[in-house]
Amino acid sequence: PLRIELQPGQALFHEGEPPDTAYLIESGQIEVRSHQSGRPVLLSLLGPGDLVGEMAVIDDSPRTASAIALSHCVLFPIDRSQIAERLAATDPIVRSLLESQLKRYRGALAALQGMPQAPGLLPVTPSERLGIGRIRLESQLREALAGRGLELGLQPLLDVDRNQVAGYEALVRWNHPERGPISPAEFVALAEETSLIVPVGEYVMDAACEAVAALVRAGHGSPFVAVNVSARQLGHPGLVERIVARADAARLPRGSLKLEITESQALDYTLVGEVISLCHGHGIKVALDDFGTGYSHLAHLHRLDFDVLKVDQAFSRHMLADPRAMSVVEAIVQLGRALSAEIVVEGIETPAQLEVLRRLGCQFAQGYLIGRPRLLQEILAAA
Ligand code: C2E
Ligand code: CA
Ligand code: CA
Ligand code: CA
Repeated sequence: PLRIELQPGQALFHEGEPPDTAYLIESGQIEVRSHQSGRPVLLSLLGPGDLVGEMAVIDDSPRTASAIALSHCVLFPIDRSQIAERLAATDPIVRSLLESQLKRYRGALAALQGMPQAPGLLPVTPSERLGIGRIRLESQLREALAGRGLELGLQPLLDVDRNQVAGYEALVRWNHPERGPISPAEFVALAEETSLIVPVGEYVMDAACEAVAALVRAGHGSPFVAVNVSARQLGHPGLVERIVARADAARLPRGSLKLEITESQALDYTLVGEVISLCHGHGIKVALDDFGTGYSHLAHLHRLDFDVLKVDQAFSRHMLADPRAMSVVEAIVQLGRALSAEIVVEGIETPAQLEVLRRLGCQFAQGYLIGRPRLLQEILAAA
């Protein structure tokens, strides 16, 4: 039914029943009651605009109370699946908090009803475990930030024409005390969910500036370092100003710092445009990262004065086996040329792949063939 009507005294549901529906009260009044040593206890009085029966639907346990109409009532049923889909789509930490609260509420209710439930006997649900796991990971990341638990990997970019390393990409590393190294793909996303990404980004920027200075001092020419900045970071006011201030303070040679901005749905193109012109004013080049994956906003490309397009490794991985993948790489190289942007192709793992880049006239190659990300000390020691 799309709507339900109840007469005074009629029950909507009874304690102990399995739940399949929650209800929105359109009109009338409903009493929710439970039993305490055989005597009815009023838990709540609900009216128009209130939800009733949503709790059991959220965690799929039997109704802990009965709902009885006090007057003539009109209700809209809300199907379980309507709520379940939303819950599944929600932030796991929020879901976990909700489930913990429900468990505690049910425990308190059981105690009230004279059926004490020993703490610890309640099973931890998988989504609760996931949410708690992320809360723990976030706390450990905060600890790592405070205590030198983060490191900077530097992966070389080869100037294809000159056949020499021209610069490095800064890739943050977290050496987790129990789990070992954790990929930034995992913890950067976590850090982005809160403003924790801001201090992570500052750590990376400081370490990258130090790395350039150290490489210059050690006679490695004047390599650039490219730093990843996510859409979320761009949204934080003053980000570029802070980056520029750091670069100026470290007296980096002009052109030694680049930013990599990853295409994503969350990218605000007006903001990116402002970031690019601000960067250009300070001799900082800007790359569009992961170009061609998912959200290629080709329609915006002409408005944004990117200096570099970074072609995702998905293309290089397939270009030798698949002529169509090769055509796409060729077309991107031409596009870059037409827009006066340099091209970096990522994921170069074999000499044959590098040969293709040479043939196409692509400026930079990055990948395990050129070198894996290494710590600054390792690069300095190897020279
Ligand atoms: P990305 O910017 O596309 O970085 C390239 C990723 O590809 C790196 O993974 C790198 O180690 C890996 N890679 C490089 N060459 C090869 C290769 O030849 N073969 C294969 N299979 N992989 C290769 P990593 O270090 O795990 O970083 C993952 C992503 O995390 C990065 O993707 C970047 O989006 C993000 N990230 C890394 N560091 C930072 C950071 O400091 N800040 C932000 N906001 N994001 C970061
Ligand atoms: Ca990158
Ligand atoms: Ca990339
Ligand atoms: Ca790229």
